[in-house]
Amino acid sequence: RFAPSPTGSLHIGSARTALFNFVFARHQGGVFVLRIEDTDMKRSLQVHEHSITRDLHWLGLSADEGPDVGGAYGPYRQSERAHIYEEGVLRLLAEGHAYRCFCSQERLDALKEDQLTRGRMPKYDRRCLGLTEEEVQQRLAAGEQATVRFRIPQGQVDYQDMIRGRLSFSADVIGDFIIKRTDGGFSYNYAVVMDDMGMKITHVIRGEDHVTNTARQLLLFQAFGVEPPTYAHHSMIHAPDGGKLSKRHGATSIGEFRDLGYLPEAMVNYLALLGWHPSDERELFRLPELVQEFTMDRVSKSPAVFDRDKLNWLNGVY
Ligand code: GLU
Repeated sequence: RFAPSPTGSLHIGSARTALFNFVFARHQGGVFVLRIEDTDMKRSLQVHEHSITRDLHWLGLSADEGPDVGGAYGPYRQSERAHIYEEGVLRLLAEGHAYRCFCSQERLDALKEDQLTRGRMPKYDRRCLGLTEEEVQQRLAAGEQATVRFRIPQGQVDYQDMIRGRLSFSADVIGDFIIKRTDGGFSYNYAVVMDDMGMKITHVIRGEDHVTNTARQLLLFQAFGVEPPTYAHHSMIHAPDGGKLSKRHGATSIGEFRDLGYLPEAMVNYLALLGWHPSDERELFRLPELVQEFTMDRVSKSPAVFDRDKLNWLNGVY
């Protein structure tokens, strides 16, 4: 699945994530799912969702399931899935995997500051874990605001990443994170797991900036007793000067490249070669050929460097 947040237009980095998901799914005879992660109400805009969908169509990466085409596991916008998230929270609470927390922001800030000055890693101290059910109900009835926190179990979290190999995290460094906020909203890591579970996602291909989220997500899958998807975290696209690719390096969104006269075939071909290499010297691949050729073992874990000359060359060819 490809799960963009509609907070801007389709960046070439995200377009490459979408492409890898698309060709991987098609190569396996699978389904490519588009999910719109619009839980950030302030930053998510419908115009961005429309432009992302339009740019995906332009590249030829139309979804088999998604907000526009529907599917058996919808709705495909997070903003329309609150009832599903709520059910999951109630289940985690009932099974002791989650608990209500009444700590004020002031207390949490002071706790964090104290931990930092003592050279400790900031982590919630579980003050509310010991509250009895009776106390909780009384405080809720009295109108006190509460968040819901996921109770992190002890031990190691291990998983096999299709690109990065075996990864392992110690759960001890992860604090009991909030899954439902006082404003009724749900946290990113929680919503993603509910969706990947509910949409029966088998493979998640995304940027390596999500590696640390994966530990939290795996622990949530474990609490629900559901087999997690297989993860593949690809590297990020870097600028030729080494840093993050940004505006000062010129066009960075698919829309900008289109307006500059680049062809979708050239973009797709170029993005595929950023981090993936074919089995031979060949460099020209149209989408159906990529579907045939693409396997994850030829995706590199080192950063891909954006090379405008190569893109220009490919555009000339097409
Ligand atoms: N919405 C997330 C993002 O745009 C994607 C998360 C994911 O793929 O799990 O970074």
